[in-house]
Amino acid sequence: MTRYIFIIGGVMSGIGKGIATASIGKILQAKGYKVTAIKIDPYVNVDAGTMNPIEHGEIFVTKDGVECDQDIGNYERFLDEELTTDNYITTGRVYQAVIQRERNLEYGGRCVEVVPDIPNETISRIKKAAKKTKADFVLIEIGGTVGEYQNMLFLEAARMMKLHNPKKVLFILISYLPVPETIGEMKTKPTQQAVKWLNMAGIQPSLIIARSKFPLDQPRKRKISIFCNVDIKDVISSPDVESVYEIPVNFAKERLGDRILHKFGLHSRRSCKKNLQDWEKLVKIIKTAKKPVKVAMVGKYFETGKFTLMDSYISVIEAIKHASWYFRRKPEIQWLSAENYEKKPRAVRELEKFDGVIVPGGFGSRGVEGKIKAIEFCRTHKIPYLGLCFGMQLAVIEFARNVAGIKDANSAEFNPGGKNNVIDIMPEQKVLLREKRYGATMRLGDYLCRIKKGTISFKAYKKQLVVERHRHRYEVNNSFRELLEKKGLVIAGVNPERDLVEIIEYKNHPFFVATQFHPEYKSRPLRPHPLFREFIRACTRKRS
Ligand code: GLN
Repeated sequence: MTRYIFIIGGVMSGIGKGIATASIGKILQAKGYKVTAIKIDPYVNVDAGTMNPIEHGEIFVTKDGVECDQDIGNYERFLDEELTTDNYITTGRVYQAVIQRERNLEYGGRCVEVVPDIPNETISRIKKAAKKTKADFVLIEIGGTVGEYQNMLFLEAARMMKLHNPKKVLFILISYLPVPETIGEMKTKPTQQAVKWLNMAGIQPSLIIARSKFPLDQPRKRKISIFCNVDIKDVISSPDVESVYEIPVNFAKERLGDRILHKFGLHSRRSCKKNLQDWEKLVKIIKTAKKPVKVAMVGKYFETGKFTLMDSYISVIEAIKHASWYFRRKPEIQWLSAENYEKKPRAVRELEKFDGVIVPGGFGSRGVEGKIKAIEFCRTHKIPYLGLCFGMQLAVIEFARNVAGIKDANSAEFNPGGKNNVIDIMPEQKVLLREKRYGATMRLGDYLCRIKKGTISFKAYKKQLVVERHRHRYEVNNSFRELLEKKGLVIAGVNPERDLVEIIEYKNHPFFVATQFHPEYKSRPLRPHPLFREFIRACTRKRS
């Protein structure tokens, strides 16, 4: 018997609904239940693949190659489960399916309407995910904030599900209590109004998670209880925390898991406390680690501000953190602008101050020459380097130019038709781009990588066959492989099916590893990714 919990946001966006959803999942898991989580994004885009990360945040990629919202990444990190296309719903996906079904005459000639056909399609998708994952609990996070037009049909789907299965469906509101500086008091009114909006949509929340700068006191809880029509025990205090990994621990303290089970007439299958022990240990390390490990991220987009960047590269940042905590280090990540190295070549020397450097994934020509300068500096000054996708392609270009003597080595991405494109477009991609078929057409998701024995990568993974996630159109040009290898480039990993280069390394360097795939997607708080782990190990060695 599957139970469904809808998580809905009130008051404003950006209050951590995704993390709250992931954390609710985590505590239900700790109580012995199987959990899956679905993100509903109200945008008309079919997926996040065509969106600018600066606007939308990171594009997360699932194992089955869906380019989706970064919250799916949060779910994966907290639940330690690999999610799929079934866990991601958008307005675009729902409408596309309904229209296609209508074209196929699958509605038996009747008039297809926004209500109930759009909510019904949404419900059938939620149920499909439940069936496929065999989860005891399906958490459904509805994107956006109650009261806006965009997510109305999804609230309607939630209401209809409750109507048909009142005992199996529960609503949780994630709200926010501001503390205006001039008043100096925590205000509940916006929360009351959010509940009114929900009521207007025919929904009464059973629990309210109250986000705020500080913990809620009893009078505030009482007020919310009375005005919002929920039991005082169901008003959950969720103050700002240093690290998001603390949130499940806080929820457990507020007995959120017990309250949810109680409402469904269920009991704990396991001791939640015991099952959260590892997690609590991690939180302790996060809060007490003092010795820093300093990692530089070299990229573009710097004028957009640190906040935006953290969102655009959240999986990379989390992967750095996971690996740093593994060594009980405090990660210090700094953003460095590649374009700066183009204007002031000597500025690249600042990299020496860092324990390691990462060039993450990227697209387009802006800042490329600066990134290549940074990579050259890491190679020649023996600074630990980890290249991710674009960071691997640019490392190959750098090597080709400066070690193999191919002065005009480049990538077909910004030098189409060039004679010495050591990074070339995949043949099938050429056709797609010509026909302007951009959506979901990159080489996406899981592919095999066979690792060469005796390499740093083999030492990290301790096995020869691994599966990693991808998102790219370009690849190492195999016609240059022999020459590059002769000059010292180590091809440490290759896709066995298509013979594509997946990992490169250098000998006689403390740590220089770059991957065509994105290892960051598979890093977990209690299980750092092997390549990030070894990268951070090398960083800590440089420091000592
Ligand atoms: N722009 C490069 C490509 O399409 C790298 C993509 C990436 O870094 N994700 O192949």
